[in-house]
Amino acid sequence: MRSIDFKKVSIPLSSVKEGISTFIFRIESPNLQAGVGGRFLSGIDIRVEITTVGDNLFVDLVVKSEGLFECDRCCETFQKVIEGHLHIVYTFDRLKAQGGKDDEIKLIPFGMNEIDITQDVIDVLYLAIPVKKLCRDTCKGLCPQCGVNLNEKDCTCQKEDIDPRWETLKLI
Ligand SMILES: [Zn+2]
Ligand SMILES: [Zn+2]
Repeated sequence: MRSIDFKKVSIPLSSVKEGISTFIFRIESPNLQAGVGGRFLSGIDIRVEITTVGDNLFVDLVVKSEGLFECDRCCETFQKVIEGHLHIVYTFDRLKAQGGKDDEIKLIPFGMNEIDITQDVIDVLYLAIPVKKLCRDTCKGLCPQCGVNLNEKDCTCQKEDIDPRWETLKLI
């Protein structure tokens, strides 16, 4: 479990109706870490849609934020909207919860009056952070020789990088 300073996100069961119920949350978390070298810029928007059928609550979770990351190729910082989705089933039915091996089916314990989805929100958010961080798909990166940002200007290093066989030809 990640230990970050995160406001609790929970849904009171009293406001979950048979059929579809929608909940919107926003967490203002300036400078929250977003993986190595990144951070979330804006707040975090959370949309929870719950479809209740009998004892089962089908939860559709969408978590959205904007992060500031460092490009893996050119090292410049860039902003990117990140969005993660998760489907979870909560149930009051103990047998159903035990039957499902994966933890996609979670039991709502007897007497519980809310569903705490804080950890789900954190998991979705962090899973949505791209593994490969690029300022753009076509980023040319830095020149390994002079370190110039090749997105901004060309350098002359390529010219020195002549195949030695051509060097010999030049001499002839
Ligand atoms: Zn880049
Ligand atoms: Zn160069």
